[in-house]
Amino acid sequence: MRILVIGGMHGNEPLGLAVVKLFQEKPVKNIDVVLANELAIEASSRFSVQDLNRSFPGNKKSKDYESRRAAQLLKLTQKYNVVLDFHNTCCPNNDCGFVGDTANGKLYEVAWLLGLDRLIVADYDCINKFASNCLSVEISLDSLFNKPELWYERIKQLSLIEDFSTKPKIERYRFVYRMTLEDKEKFNLDEQNLNAFQRMDDKIAKAMGVSVPAYPIFIGDSFTPYNYGGVLNKL
Ligand SMILES: [Zn+2]
Repeated sequence: MRILVIGGMHGNEPLGLAVVKLFQEKPVKNIDVVLANELAIEASSRFSVQDLNRSFPGNKKSKDYESRRAAQLLKLTQKYNVVLDFHNTCCPNNDCGFVGDTANGKLYEVAWLLGLDRLIVADYDCINKFASNCLSVEISLDSLFNKPELWYERIKQLSLIEDFSTKPKIERYRFVYRMTLEDKEKFNLDEQNLNAFQRMDDKIAKAMGVSVPAYPIFIGDSFTPYNYGGVLNKL
């Protein structure tokens, strides 16, 4: 199958940049790579004007770089069977994949074959919402999976598979809430001992207007200091 690997959707997250570099050094048939936010990568920042992964579907005529870039990338994704978009988080034990609401069912098998066992459905304006063939791979900086060589090999293996039918044993979640810095103060979240994918206190989840049981992710991630994290429900 034809695969597109995206690195640098957020310019300061290292894994995707390193995976792209490996494929540039040692190209593999049917695998193409692209650096997404070139301005942010150059500046080692998350974004230039606005978060590229909140700029989809984008507008090719916009005056803003990220909006134009989102439109270009979305068009590019259409040429591939599978698109893999790499991210890092500072939050430990947070490895997972993200897909959109309309995700191609094959993406669950792809995620499983790549070694992911948790998938989150996101319905906000990220690339996954508009590219049903796009799986975002989110890896903690301190994870054993935060190794570009490992992903190089796994993606290479994946590209050799023409047809597959596995039974993915994947936990599925939906992203339902973004914890704000106000929530952090109001609920004293730093004292709550929150851990990624570990059920949080029902009372706090309910007070945030979230159904229970609820599971936090991206807790206090310094890549996104302007919010406190995300909250999931199981599907
Ligand atoms: Zn990211």
